[in-house]
Parts: sequence; C-alpha cells; structure tokens
Amino acid sequence: MGFKSKARKNRGETGKVASKDKDSEVYEGQVKCDIIECDKWADKKIGGRKMSYNRAVEVWGVSGVSRKIGKVSLCKTCYRSWKKEKKGEPKQWASKSSGPLGNAPNSIPVRSFDQP
Ligand SMILES: [Zn+2]
Repeated sequence: MGFKSKARKNRGETGKVASKDKDSEVYEGQVKCDIIECDKWADKKIGGRKMSYNRAVEVWGVSGVSRKIGKVSLCKTCYRSWKKEKKGEPKQWASKSSGPLGNAPNSIPVRSFDQP
C-alpha cells in the first residue's frame, strides 16, 4: 500500500486577492468638529468635547469657528491644542463642577401611554 497522496488539499485561496480591509481608517461619526480648518469628527466616544463658543473663539478667533452656537464641538485634537493654548493662563475659573459640559436632554422621563 504505497499510495502516495498526490492530492493537495491546500491549493491556496480561491483566487482571492489579499485585501486588507481597515475599517478603523474611515470613521463615520455624527458630530463634526466646529473648527473650520479641521474636518475631524468630534464624537464623544472618540474624545470629542463640547466647549462654549466664547472659549473657542479665544483661541481660534471668530473666523476660526464655523458656527456661532452656544456650545461648539471640538475633536480630540482641537481640544488638546486649545488646552495647550490656554496653558499658562491663571486659573480664573476654578470650576467646582467636574463633570463634562453639555446639557444632554436625558432627564426627560420616558412614559408609555400605550395601554389599551
Ligand atoms: Zn478639530
């Protein structure tokens, strides 16, 4: 029984080109950074921050912020550069509130009136 198995099982991939899909490269966010020269996402889960418009203007200027709203959204990078810019200034506003800014309407009681 000297039967040599000629059949090669592993013939390789079936004509599949090894393409590396990197999903992490194109992140689809929901909140855009409000700094004009920046086009990154400012989603909270990737480090985005909210900041009052006036504070952002102190660093980027009126023409540097795309929208005039109460709270602008900053991406992680912009927030860091803002912090850098602000470094060295005396702490005028010793904030007691240590939570993140932003008033998300999460205090609305959810009631269901769908009773028959
Ligand atoms: Zn940005």
